[in-house]
Amino acid sequence: GETAVYGLIGHPVAHSYSPAMHNAALAALGLNGVYVPFGVQPENLVAAMEGLRALGVAGVNVTIPYKEAVMPHLDELAETAILYGAVNTIINRQGRLAGYNTDGPGFIKDLREDHGFEPSQGPALVLGAGGSARAVVMALAQAGCPEVAVVNRNRARAEELAKSVHSKTGLQVLALQWDPGDRLLAGFARRAALVVNCTPLGMSGQVRGDLPLPRGVPGSGQLAYDLVYNPPVTRFLARSAANGAVVANGLGMLLHQGVLSFEAWTGLAAPVAVMRRALYRQAGI
Ligand code: NDP
Repeated sequence: GETAVYGLIGHPVAHSYSPAMHNAALAALGLNGVYVPFGVQPENLVAAMEGLRALGVAGVNVTIPYKEAVMPHLDELAETAILYGAVNTIINRQGRLAGYNTDGPGFIKDLREDHGFEPSQGPALVLGAGGSARAVVMALAQAGCPEVAVVNRNRARAEELAKSVHSKTGLQVLALQWDPGDRLLAGFARRAALVVNCTPLGMSGQVRGDLPLPRGVPGSGQLAYDLVYNPPVTRFLARSAANGAVVANGLGMLLHQGVLSFEAWTGLAAPVAVMRRALYRQAGI
């Protein structure tokens, strides 16, 4: 039969680990398909969406900076896309494009399956208020997390995120000051079950800077989760591990959002171990 084409739309996409992960999965299941990175300039986004229809591209992931921008150009939005206000997965059904979001669900799947962490077990502190923080906070609220605080350099953005999550899920979210001396923040950080970094601080090639966390936190009895996965052990994770915390990098979320996308496109159970191995190889682990 015809080769099924999958891909990734974003800008830039050259260094993405997703092609290796999905091509390994397609090969492992003996499927006639390929996954291609498509770097799209902003002025070509609408044409690219038309191109998916015209060429019969079976499905794509969407990454920075288009997760919101693609939404008006889709024919259908799944509940997850509406809830998260962003699309990371598109399925092409006979020229009709449907948008989904597997980022938030992938994060929760990783917490539960790979880290044995149940979000309902305690408070969560989220650092950052950008696109990934929105997915993480919304997912935690959906998964029954009892208490969430968001801390962001630009506090107005944290407040906006808190308001939006509250209006969609009913969870009251605290918006805190990005200030290591802030006592409310220090107190929350100490009693959090989970601390998640959703900023690029610690990412290779990014500006260096410190997360506003009190000394010794996260530590014993807490899970430190970094969405950054390059390098796989960030300063935040190294410090947290030294304090006795359990640590997790962003490869797990990347893996599980990919697993959920793959399953949505193919209707088959994804070969998770194969995909994980492909990701780890990309990460040099
Ligand atoms: P956004 O650009 O949407 O948000 C960036 C956030 O980081 C904002 O809250 C911003 O604060 C904050 N920030 C940026 N620079 C600094 C700084 N110097 N000091 C303090 N805060 C800063 O990015 P995303 O949310 O999409 O991505 C964030 C990180 O998460 C990236 O490293 C990305 O690679 C990673 N990621 C990982 C995923 C995975 O699957 N593992 C999925 C998605 C993202 P402000 O509002 O004040 O500007």
